Amino acid sequence: MRSTDVVIIGAGAAGLMCALTAAARGRQVLLVDHANKAGKKILMSGGGRCNFTNMWTDPANFASQNPHFCKSALARYTPWDFIAMVDEHGVPYHEKKLGQLFCDNKSKDILKMLLEECELAGVDLRLDTAVRQIEKTEAGYLLSTDIGHVATLALVIATGGLSVPTLGATGFGYEIARQFGHNVLSTRAGLVPFTSSGQLKELCTELSGTSVDCVVSCNGESFRENILFTHRGLSGPAILQISSFWHPGDAVEINLLPDRNALEWLQSQQAARPNSELKTLLGEVFTKKMAALLAEHWFVSKPMKQYTPAELRNIADTLGAWQVVPAGTEGYRTAEVTLGGVDTREVSSKTMESLKSRGLYFIGEVLDVSGHLGGFNFQWAWASGYAAAQFV
Ligand SMILES: Cc1cc2nc3c(=O)[nH]c(=O)nc-3n(C[C@H](O)[C@H](O)[C@H](O)COP(=O)(O)OP(=O)(O)OC[C@H]3O[C@@H](n4cnc5c(N)ncnc54)[C@H](O)[C@@H]3O)c2cc1C
Repeated sequence: MRSTDVVIIGAGAAGLMCALTAAARGRQVLLVDHANKAGKKILMSGGGRCNFTNMWTDPANFASQNPHFCKSALARYTPWDFIAMVDEHGVPYHEKKLGQLFCDNKSKDILKMLLEECELAGVDLRLDTAVRQIEKTEAGYLLSTDIGHVATLALVIATGGLSVPTLGATGFGYEIARQFGHNVLSTRAGLVPFTSSGQLKELCTELSGTSVDCVVSCNGESFRENILFTHRGLSGPAILQISSFWHPGDAVEINLLPDRNALEWLQSQQAARPNSELKTLLGEVFTKKMAALLAEHWFVSKPMKQYTPAELRNIADTLGAWQVVPAGTEGYRTAEVTLGGVDTREVSSKTMESLKSRGLYFIGEVLDVSGHLGGFNFQWAWASGYAAAQFV
């Protein structure tokens, strides 16, 4: 039987950060993952370029039933701390938009950096290693694993959420949390495309590939970014963002004219260009195809002078506050995050240690902390991993 100071289960973003930081503090760290490769989500992230942080990270960018929980860790390990490591390793990056930092080359630059830091600090990384059983002992925990029994003083659960099972996601972290008396809040897919049915599906299919700048709102949250029509429904950054606040049956409001008051614009066009057809005007704002389809699906296109004030108001309402009821979401298969998870009211926000079982820690996405789209989820993984590493 081997024994060690710290076992971290899950060699994803949070587990790697925790491992390299704890080992650099002189702790003996065993990092295990059941997958055949560490950091698979890092490799797939940001369209292959890893949106590794957001310069404007703020607690307001995270959803949780306990919104104050993330504050302490985020304040103690900021985007600038991670950027310093990225700079030290000479990884080239750029701001894409809205403070989102992406690799110039490939996501593997970030994974390589983390693995190099782990190696330098002496982390013992074991892949293809499943943990079968965990028992609490006087001094810590006893694990039964594919590499035999391991006794450890501290045990860190960094197994992430349920999103994208093909990248190694399992509900293991939630099972362990329950085993040690933790409440696990119900989970659902977040940052995920919407599916559609009926007329909406027809429209989405016909417009598939079209992207439009919009304001999308649901349940008191709003995001301004692009939406993307797909064969199955709606995607794009604005839709992914709002999906985290959507519940089945809710309507999502889409303002297709975010820079203008739709009614005032239509009225002014009616006055200035009475003989122009609505379709022509819409074609100056949207693509020709989209204008034609909107005119066909939603309105009867005719010269502007022929619309009554009530008709104009109706068109304005549709363009400025299009009500969409998605059929559902694509689910965990493609979701970027899992909402819900280990209830943070039973975890220390300073140390990430369980308040139920001494020496047990939870970090990263397994906790009920979910970031908006834009690099915030990785920043939470880095910050929570770093926080736990100071105390294990
Ligand atoms: C396609 C995609 C793209 C994304 N892009 C971005 C982005 O650009 N920017 C951003 O901020 N966020 C992005 N995210 C979200 C981000 O990847 C996660 O929030 C982040 O990886 C969570 O880190 P984590 O360490 O908690 O979990 P993970 O990174 O998921 O790591 C969990 C690890 O635990 C292992 N594991 C699971 N179960 C077990 C078990 N039973 N035994 C042993 N090991 C186990 C897994 O194999 C995995 O290696 C993306 C997510 C996806 C799915």
